[in-house]
This record gives sequence, structure tokens and C-alpha cells, in this order.
Amino acid sequence: MIFNKNIECMGRDEMTALQTERLRKIVIYSYEKVPFYKKKFDSIGLLPGDIRTLEDIEKIPFTTKDDLRDGYPFEMFAVPMSEIVEIHASSGTTGKPVVVGYTKKDMDDWAEAVARLAACAGITKDDVAQVAFGYGMFTGGFGLHYGLQRLGATVVPASSGNSERQIMYMQDFGTTALISTPSYALYLSEICEDMGIDPKSIGLRTGLFGGEGHSAELTAEIERRWGITDTENYGMTEIIGPGVSGECTFKNGLHINEDMFLPEIIDANTLSRLGYGEKGEMVLTTLIKEGIPMLRFRTKDITVLFDEKCECGRTSARMHKVLGRTDDMLIIKGVNVFPSQIESVLMKFAHAAPYYQIVLKSHGFIDTMEIQVEVADGSILDSYRKLEEFENTLRHDLRTVLQIDAKVKLVEPRSIERTAGKAKRVIDLRDKKQF
Ligand code: ZN
Repeated sequence: MIFNKNIECMGRDEMTALQTERLRKIVIYSYEKVPFYKKKFDSIGLLPGDIRTLEDIEKIPFTTKDDLRDGYPFEMFAVPMSEIVEIHASSGTTGKPVVVGYTKKDMDDWAEAVARLAACAGITKDDVAQVAFGYGMFTGGFGLHYGLQRLGATVVPASSGNSERQIMYMQDFGTTALISTPSYALYLSEICEDMGIDPKSIGLRTGLFGGEGHSAELTAEIERRWGITDTENYGMTEIIGPGVSGECTFKNGLHINEDMFLPEIIDANTLSRLGYGEKGEMVLTTLIKEGIPMLRFRTKDITVLFDEKCECGRTSARMHKVLGRTDDMLIIKGVNVFPSQIESVLMKFAHAAPYYQIVLKSHGFIDTMEIQVEVADGSILDSYRKLEEFENTLRHDLRTVLQIDAKVKLVEPRSIERTAGKAKRVIDLRDKKQF
């Protein structure tokens, strides 16, 4: 089902006209209501009226997460607090969090944005949707909740954690859709098996996963374990929370809610704009948000945009699954390495469980990378020959993909920590002082 056919199947020219009109308005709105933008525009002699076409957006300076942190808590808000009906914050591990506020209309648009993506993933009003994202300041739980309810699905606000109870709810309430991070979906399948229950017998049909990226290989593993269709959706607190884009069942990239969020791809080094089909950092502008408008927000997520019509009938531009984050990128011995590349290699082997950790250390000026990989079956650890063989194979394949040498250490099943939220993949023990 297409939730909003008028918008999601709109012709390109009509969409461009709508985006242009909304861009002009949001630029004037941001300039007039948020001193941060006025200052930025004034400092380069840019007037809101200078932005007339979508291409003119290039003249607007970028906004970063640091700008939001510096404005903690409410400096980026465009309306008085009496107009704000809900506040959320990012789960920043260091320093102040990013705080965002929603007006009544923003809440309405948020529910619409998520409802479209849920419908896109094949959810209907007949589904029982269990939200295993954390509720609270994090946008994941509430965002999906509002959207699924707008769609008419039965929402089970289980929140994250309490894993055995999650399985009980699934069985007793007839849950058909699981909403969580992909790593938690994987962990829940293990818990299910520990309880002596075959995950496939639960009757889940679909998974709506987000909050962290996952490789195509991990997607296949989650689908195999649960017997479901795994779909990915994408968003971030600074822009709205979940609701920016999501996969349809044809899984040819994530459909973007383009009438609400204007996407661009830039070269992260030169900052110049790239076209469809070119890989770079995604930049998003909110086109209708009232509480906290974002002009050219640098997401740090690396992806590719394409605009061919999808088999599902939607004409909206799509983005490739996030290929990495500019700040996830590890620089080891001068080579760029993304954790997602490592995941893709590991997932090709049946002996490797989908749990791994990358440990970085420094010896003098030399960085070393050790990849700890859980074995799927502990018996391989008893045979030195098999163990060595498997380690060598992994090491070889990793070197081919990463272009650098990594030490591989196979570890016991279930020895890498599980979480109910985002998985911790990288442990950086390098001594930063030497640089
Ligand atoms: Zn589609």
C-alpha cells in the first residue's frame, strides 16, 4: 500500500516545483526566526531572497552537529517554548546532547513521514507492531510509535531490553512486525533459541530496522533466522528522528520523503555538490519543520542517490543503504577502513557468528588492528588445525578487501557483549598523544 500516493508518486517536475517553493519559505523562516542563521547569512552577505532555485542552495553554509551542541539547549529553536509540544535529545556519549523540539504540526508531519515508510515496508493496519526501540529522549521509540499508530497498526510499546519478556509478548500478542536496531533483532533470535523456541515459529513477518546501519549479509542472516523480510529505515534526531527514508519490499534503496527533506550529496573533502549515482556525504535540509529548521545539515553518512522510478510505483528519489559514516571511518596505517567492510567479509562464512569487535592498538607509531570474531560453533576451537585454517582464510579475505593486514582472533560463542541498542563495534585503545 502507498500511504500518500499524491506525494510518493509525484512526477519529478511537480516535486521540484514543490521543493523549490518550500525551500524559499524555509530559508526566509529560518533567517527571520533563528539568530544563528541570520548571523551566518549576514556574515557572507547572503539574503534569503537570493535562494530562488534548488541549485541556489549551494550558497547556504552547512550546519553541523557541533552547531547544535554549541546552541545547547534551545538556541536553534525557531519558536517560543509555548509552541513546542515535545522535546527529544540525541544519546551523545560525549559532551552535551543535541536537543530538538517539535511543534504540533511537526508532530503531525513526523507521524505522516514514518507512516509512509512503514507502509512502504509492507506494514498494514492488520499488523501487530512491537517497538523494541528505547522510549524516552531517544527519537526511535516514539517516532516509530506515532507513525505506526497513524498507519493503524496495533502498537506494542515494549521499549528495549527485558529480552525474554519481548519474546513472550511476541508469542502471546501475535506480533507480526519487529521494530528495533538490527543488532537487537539478531540478539533476540538467540534469546528465543535459548528459551527453546524456534524464532520462525513466532510468526513475525516483517522487521523495520534502523538506528544503525547493517550490511546486506547481516540482513540475510536476520531474514534466515526469523523467516522475515528485513527492511531498513533511516533518520536522525537533528533532522526529525526516524522518518527520513525507508526501504520498500523491492529493496532497491531507501525511498526519501523528499517533500519534507531535501537531500544533497557532497564530496566530504572539497564540499562540492555531486550528482545522482555519485558516492559522497549526504546533506539534508528540512523543508517544512517549524520547531527547529535545519539548513544543509551534514549527516556524515556516506551514500549514493538515484532517481529512477522504483518497481513499487513510487517516484521518490532513493538513497543506497548507508555505506559508512565519515566519523566511523578508521584510519589505520594511512588506509581508510569502514567497519561495514569488515562485517561484509565475516558474514560470508558459516563458521563466523555475526558478532565481532575491532580492537585498535598502537605500538610506537604503528597502529595495529585485531578483529575478534565469534565462532558460530565452539567445537572448531578444539581443533588447532581447523582454527588456524579458518583464521588464515579470514585474514586473507580481509586483506583483499581492506588492503591492509589485520590480526584475526577467534573467540568463544557468546563472548562478545550483546546490547539492546546500537552495537559497539570498535574499541580504540590507540594512544592519541603521539599525533
Ligand atoms: Zn520502491
